[in-house]
This record gives sequence, C-alpha cells and structure tokens, in this order.
Amino acid sequence: MSRRYRDISLWADVTDEQWADWRWQLQHRITTTEQLREIIPVSASEAEAIDTCLTLLRMAISPYYACLIDPDDPADPIRRQAVPTLAETMRSPGEHADPLNEEVDSPAPGLTHRYPDRVLFLVTDQCSMYCRHCTRRRLAGQTDRPRSREEIAAALDYIRRTPAVRDVLLSGGDPLTLDDDRLEEILSELRDMPHVEIVRIGTRMPAVMPQRVTPELAAMIAKYHPVWVSLHFNHPRELAPEAARACDILSRAGIPLGNQSVLLRGVNDCPVTMRQLLHGLLKIRVRPYYLYHCDPSFGLSLFRTSIGKGIEIIESLRGHTSGLAIPEFVVDAPGGGGKVPLGPQYLISRSDKRVVVRNYEGFMSAIEEPSDYADPCASGCPRCRDDVALGITKLLRGEQVSIRSEESARRRLAVPSGAGRDAFAGVR
Ligand SMILES: *Cc1c(COP(=O)(O)O)cnc(C)c1O
Ligand code: SF4
Repeated sequence: MSRRYRDISLWADVTDEQWADWRWQLQHRITTTEQLREIIPVSASEAEAIDTCLTLLRMAISPYYACLIDPDDPADPIRRQAVPTLAETMRSPGEHADPLNEEVDSPAPGLTHRYPDRVLFLVTDQCSMYCRHCTRRRLAGQTDRPRSREEIAAALDYIRRTPAVRDVLLSGGDPLTLDDDRLEEILSELRDMPHVEIVRIGTRMPAVMPQRVTPELAAMIAKYHPVWVSLHFNHPRELAPEAARACDILSRAGIPLGNQSVLLRGVNDCPVTMRQLLHGLLKIRVRPYYLYHCDPSFGLSLFRTSIGKGIEIIESLRGHTSGLAIPEFVVDAPGGGGKVPLGPQYLISRSDKRVVVRNYEGFMSAIEEPSDYADPCASGCPRCRDDVALGITKLLRGEQVSIRSEESARRRLAVPSGAGRDAFAGVR
C-alpha cells in the first residue's frame, strides 16, 4: 500500500492537479538528504553515505515513487532501488564504466549499432528517477538533460543512411522525459525512413512517474505505429493503481507492452516475489520480455546475484505457471557480446533417431525424429541462398567449418612452425 501524499508534511498543501501533473512531479523530485528526511527516516551515517554517492550518480526520486517506500522498513525493495547506499561507491572485480562496450559499437553519439538489423538510440540522459541499479550509470543523469539537437540529428542521419536498420530502440535515460513535441519530432523523422519497420521506446515512467502517461501522449505515439513500448517494473509493489492506469492508456492506443526487469539482490531475487511481479504484469496486459542479470557496472555488486539464481527462478516458473508470464533470462556478455539467454536444460540427450527431453517435474520422454526428413534449405533453396548468414548460422549451413577467436588466429601466426604444440599448451 502506498502512503497518501497529503499525510507527508512536505506535500501537505499540494493539490490533486499538481500531483497528477508529470512536470510538477519532475520538478519536485527528491534530490537531497534533507528532503529525503521529510519522507523516510535517514540516519546520520546513511545521510553521509548518500552524499558520497551523489558524486557518482545523482539521486532523484519522484514524489509518486517516494510514496511507495515503506518508511518502517530499512530494507524495503522500493527504497533499495531509489535511495543510495555506501556500497555503490565500491568497485568489484570485473566491473567497468561501460561493461557492455556500448561506446565502442557507436557510429554516432548516443547510437549503438551492435546487431545487424537494429540500433539502440539514447536520446537523453535524463530519467524521472535515477535507479540505484542503473547499468548506464556512466551516462544517466550526467546532465539531466536531453541530448542536443545536433547529436540527435547526427544519429538520425546515420539511421537514414543505413538501410539494414529495421528496428530502432529509443532509450536513455528515459525517452519519455522529452516532452510530447520533441518526442514526436524524432518519431516522425524515423517514420519517414521506409526501412525503419518498427520503433521501440524503453521507459521506466509507468513504474516511477505514471503521471507522464496521458491520453495525449498515447494518441501522439499511435500516429507513428507500429511502436512498441518496453517497461521496467522490478517489484510487485510497483504495480500500483496509477501504474496500471498508465499501462491501460498505452494499451488502448494499440501499443504492445513488454517488461524488462533486472534481477536484483534484495529486491526480486526470490521465486515468489518474481511470480507475483509476473502475474501482476499479465493482469495489466504487460508481457514479460527479459529478465536481465545485473550488469557489472561500477558499484553494482550490492545488487548482483549469482547467475544460478536467475536460472533457478526460470526453473521455478516454466511449467509451473502460464508460459506468457515467463521472461527470457539474459546476461549481457562482457566486452560487447550482447545478450545471451540462459536457462535450465530441458534437452537431456539425443541420438540419430530420438531426442530425450524432461519437463518441469523431472518427467522424461523420448521424441522420435522423422526418418525421411529432407531439409528444404539443404538443396540450394533460393530464399536461403540470398540470405546472408552470420555467426553460428554460417556453421550450420556449412558455409564455414569453425569460428576462431581473433586471439587464437594471432597466436597461430606468431608461432614458428613446429612449436605449435607448446604455444597452445593451456589454450583450449
Ligand atoms: C538489447 C539491445 C538491443 C535489442 O535487443 P533485442 O533482443 O532485439 O530486444 C539492441 N541493441 C543493443 C545494443 C542492445 O543492448
Ligand atoms: S530509468 Fe533506466 S536509464 Fe534511468 S536510471 Fe533507471 S535504469 Fe537507468
């Protein structure tokens, strides 16, 4: 249950109109420990820790989200996502500023082009709230402003000149911190590019500032369909009535809604909490899409779980509940490898004739393989012939027999003939 804002002295005089206005919410975000103290108890040592953290990633808690915090629980999962703690200042092995190498794959400011047919476009560094688990903490909140028009124009130019891009993901920061007009300019430019088939908007607004989602915003977005929206809910208590209303407005405008959660220690690293979240999302017509392993950005070790926890959670879901409720658990491979899906193994074994699988109960069965299956793609199918294969697909099609890392290629060249065996000792 969220608190009523009028019961908090800081907002005793606020009107319902003000409260419902996202600009009021944005302007009245809690950014200092003094303000925070008016809402929840903050000890002297916590206050000191918060001030230290603010040099790394600013704090900004929307009044709406602040009301979701349970003031009596220091370990409250909502509080944990919003209020800095000293652990954020620690750096752990394997952590980086840009663990996903988004800047290496960047052809224009704010643009990451990693996968052949889609780009990630960071249109602003401003968020309605700065999540303590933010993976883009190197960027989020640095200026608390949208990207410049020149930079946006340069990124749009790249997309315009790159016909392979059929899917553009607007992210940030939070793209919905842009006002309707600015967002519309970007959407309409993208819609004028015939090769851009779909646009996706990633936003945390419905979870942390649902006032942003107005019928006018939804109607504007709907002019540029097909537009998909990805949300970011991590805990069932974020699914408050206001959030449900925001999702309903978007759904009614024909915008399909997905959710991308982050698996967070002390927030949702429990199968029961996760199931409540996922079922709650389905009830407001949001389809769980990804569950991310927490990235190794600097200062996130307090939030990271083992990979095993994520796999255990997926095991606890598949078969046990609606398949529609189950997200894909993914880890972003360090060094720019992109998303890798991880989960329990259901394929137990296989022979030339049979495949053995197990279900969620541990029940095993054999599936007969057809004896007369002739692969239509094997014998020079014209559709495949003209399709450019990449990566493992190339191996499967027989266009290549191995994929060698650059490193091993370099080693091989450096090895004088005959010395190969020694040089490769220890390299598998
Ligand atoms: C996540 C991501 C995408 C989109 O991936 P999907 O699996 O298509 O949702 C695109 N580009 C980058 C750089 C990403 O990190
Ligand atoms: S809304 Fe997204 S980009 Fe912004 S702070 Fe939260 S996780 Fe980071």
